[in-house]
Amino acid sequence: MKISHVDFSGWQANKVTIFTGAGMSAESGIPTFRDRMTGLWARTDPMEIATPWAFRAHPQRVWDWHVHLGGAVLTASPNAGHRAVADLEQRGVHVTVITQNIDNLHQRAGSTKVIELHGNLLRLKSFVDEEAAFAAERPPMICPVCNGYAAWEEHDPYANRDDLLAIQLLAGPVPHCPGCGALLRPDVVWFGEPLAPEALDAAWDAVEQCDLLIAVGASLEVEPAASLPWRALQKGARVIEVNPAPTALAEHCHASFAGSAAEVLPTLLASLWATT
Ligand code: NAD
Repeated sequence: MKISHVDFSGWQANKVTIFTGAGMSAESGIPTFRDRMTGLWARTDPMEIATPWAFRAHPQRVWDWHVHLGGAVLTASPNAGHRAVADLEQRGVHVTVITQNIDNLHQRAGSTKVIELHGNLLRLKSFVDEEAAFAAERPPMICPVCNGYAAWEEHDPYANRDDLLAIQLLAGPVPHCPGCGALLRPDVVWFGEPLAPEALDAAWDAVEQCDLLIAVGASLEVEPAASLPWRALQKGARVIEVNPAPTALAEHCHASFAGSAAEVLPTLLASLWATT
């Protein structure tokens, strides 16, 4: 991928935001959802299984699907794109990563300022069944172990947070919170769920403050994350897109590279910081 046709002189960037979607980790062997899951789950539509409604109806099926994705995450390693982003931070550049990924690969590559918009697959939390909560005769309590809005009257006073943290995303029956007995689920944002307000606020701050935003491997089809690169553009930051299938952003941003994350990012970042 040749990027030499873009003249980066004058692109002084004090604060850089790297905004990443599932394509960032594709070359680490973690399939994107829109580009289709591979193997056993190839015919399963994530839009139908990665939802609270699916978990309420078929918790074991949804758990098994996440265990399968977790297998890909656990065997994956950061690729050259993740490493290039982490290296930039290590060279003293102020870099914030906003990721829609749930795979921990930016952190494993060495990035320290990572905002996880969609949570983390390998962390568990209780499933808050709002339908059951509304239908209950008594208001539910907050379980002190899982902090879930999930405990009715069955709280185990001897259970503690460490008991919950010891439970992992592994094949087998869906685990329960050791405190209140609620079903556990991965701490990710499923389709139809809101983003954590603190993560979204931190992401908006990073976008508002950056001079340069690089959007990598994101289809920009899901709000509110999709608005973040557009906001950076609107407020005057330079914006670059890296995606083998350029999105609508490509026509409006300052530079677009129709290539993969691992192929483009090392050269792109080296070129940018060779001239600034
Ligand atoms: P998405 O909407 O971000 O779409 C994937 C994008 O990646 C597409 O635009 C595609 O053209 C691009 N792409 C594919 N290969 C690429 C490469 N090698 N380099 C750069 N770009 C590439 O993501 P999605 O797959 O629809 O997933 C939706 C959500 O599901 C994500 O936002 C995330 O929360 C979750 N998810 C996470 C992971 C992960 O953690 N690795 C993987 C799949 C899905």
